[in-house]
Amino acid sequence: MTASNSAARGPQFLGGRPRSRVCALCGRAGGITRAHVPPQAAGNTGEVRRYRPGVLAGTLGPQGVPQKGGLFIESLCADCNSWAGANYDRAYAEFAKRLEFATNPGTLVLPREVPAVNLAPGLVARSILVGLMAVNPRIRINHPTIAEQLLSEAPEIRLPGQLQLRVAMTRQRSARLAAASTMMRVLGRRQFNLSLAEVWFRPLAWALIPEPGNTPQFGEDLVTLEGWPDVTEWLCYSTDRTSVDLRNIVRAFPTVVHPRTDPRQRDSWVEMLSDEAPLLEGVIPR
Ligand SMILES: [Zn+2]
Repeated sequence: MTASNSAARGPQFLGGRPRSRVCALCGRAGGITRAHVPPQAAGNTGEVRRYRPGVLAGTLGPQGVPQKGGLFIESLCADCNSWAGANYDRAYAEFAKRLEFATNPGTLVLPREVPAVNLAPGLVARSILVGLMAVNPRIRINHPTIAEQLLSEAPEIRLPGQLQLRVAMTRQRSARLAAASTMMRVLGRRQFNLSLAEVWFRPLAWALIPEPGNTPQFGEDLVTLEGWPDVTEWLCYSTDRTSVDLRNIVRAFPTVVHPRTDPRQRDSWVEMLSDEAPLLEGVIPR
């Protein structure tokens, strides 16, 4: 295929369309609204540009002009969207806001040092879990108990199938929502990164992953190597615990860079994506 043929065909987008027909939380059809992930209150607003990455004429990058309006996935019904917004999003935004200082270029944070900030672990974890389900609507289908527990406002939410919620800090201006991504390091050490869904949006990166011990055949798993704390237990915190010191609930809090946006690592990794699972990237203004 020549470059001109390829251009005439238009871009080949990576991942699937960030739009679904049924709600990624309750499963009802119709009335699907824009679910901002992370919540708009956490800075995911107008000036944040989103785009779908793709390949055109052999070049990988944003296809078309990135659009303002923040990163959103059209996958939650209005009821689920406003329920999550009313209950959990403010706690998420407050946590993100309190961490902002630690991601300023001028702030010295020792590797893996845990910043002294307070948060509501149960509310923050529920907020991002809804977001991760919005990013990958297959989670509701493959693990129905998660949505059942969330929607019934269960006092403790147990992830099935050895799934883990992991978190780290990030200073990157590039943001990303990805579903069902498998990354393999093909140069150097044998490493992998496998997630059901991930959200990269400064100052936080989140991943819902299968228990790394279950996939030793791929080599070392990146989130464990980088020391992303396992915060699955935050889902069991009562929602009235609104001021817990982060230093008391994680032992490390590394600052990380996505391999695909790190020039030193980019060529060492390949990423496999499903053309049914959404992928969206974006740029956060300075
Ligand atoms: Zn719904």
